[in-house]
Amino acid sequence: MRALVTGGAGFIGSHLCDALTARGHEVFVLDNLSTGRFQNIEHLDNVTSIIDSTLNKEIVRDLVRDVDVVYHLAATVGVQLVVDAPIQTIQNNIQGTEILLEETCRYRRKLLLTSTSEVYGKSMQAVFREDDDCIIGPPHRHRWCYAASKAIDEFLALSYWHEKRHPVVVARLFNTVGPRQTGRYGMVIPNLTRQALQGEPLTVFGDGQQSRCFSYVGDVVPALITLMEDDAVNGEVYNIGSDHPVTIEALAKLIIERTGSSSDIRFIPYEEAYGYGYEDMRHRAPSLEKIHAAIGYAPQTSLEEILDSVIAELRKNEF
Ligand code: UDP
Repeated sequence: MRALVTGGAGFIGSHLCDALTARGHEVFVLDNLSTGRFQNIEHLDNVTSIIDSTLNKEIVRDLVRDVDVVYHLAATVGVQLVVDAPIQTIQNNIQGTEILLEETCRYRRKLLLTSTSEVYGKSMQAVFREDDDCIIGPPHRHRWCYAASKAIDEFLALSYWHEKRHPVVVARLFNTVGPRQTGRYGMVIPNLTRQALQGEPLTVFGDGQQSRCFSYVGDVVPALITLMEDDAVNGEVYNIGSDHPVTIEALAKLIIERTGSSSDIRFIPYEEAYGYGYEDMRHRAPSLEKIHAAIGYAPQTSLEEILDSVIAELRKNEF
């Protein structure tokens, strides 16, 4: 099997490349290295890397023609990057997916689109189900351009299925974490872990009572592969994540405990952290009923185990 992974040098993409090559697949990576790192995949033999953008239609067409399946992960992600560069976010996320869908449809290659729990927006439901409404904030708050751009990607992918029976599946990822995730663009676990290891105060934004469910990349990646291999899921959207919420303050305390750090916690107002244009969602937890019924998915790795893997990696790399 030959697979194209867009965004394959990124955090989740590189773990996907590990898993695909371990299964004997030949992998092609298309990544512009804007947030990905070549070091994430340089240890892999059965991978051909093309350093280019998903906006380069000719390259995408050539690659799609030569593979059997396409995992589309390339996107502008990370709250900091999104609020700093909303134009780039919207263009990359929408045009890149348009091109990938057009070309995979041309050659009838199944496409898995990675989307995000952000599309649920600021809905206040206790858990989000795939057919729930998406409640996105106003356009002058730039954070929402990420959710809106990924929602358009989903609309487009599902329209290709509806109108052309082009095989697609959408995976909505909920706060995937683990080794190789960078804290540069705002992600909380690598950020707070680095701060704890360096003896700096842990920066908790807002009152710290907002909650998230963190899922281990090593649990998420096999689910992506199963969704690709199973044609019964075509045309569907699936949540993937963990259903154990933790507040960000409790997370910070756990990181301090597991690193043995003497750091304390510093609460920072959102405006100070991200500037104007930021708006956080209070709670975010997935219903995993649909994906469990479809492919038997259930998260396996505890938050403590996840943190230990991230701490071990950051210690090894000396940041
Ligand atoms: N956050 C924080 N300190 C940081 C980075 C993030 O308190 O240094 C908070 C952020 O405001 C959000 C949560 O942690 O409430 C998760 O942030 P992240 O960017 O990792 O993911 P999000 O769920 O916002 O996409």
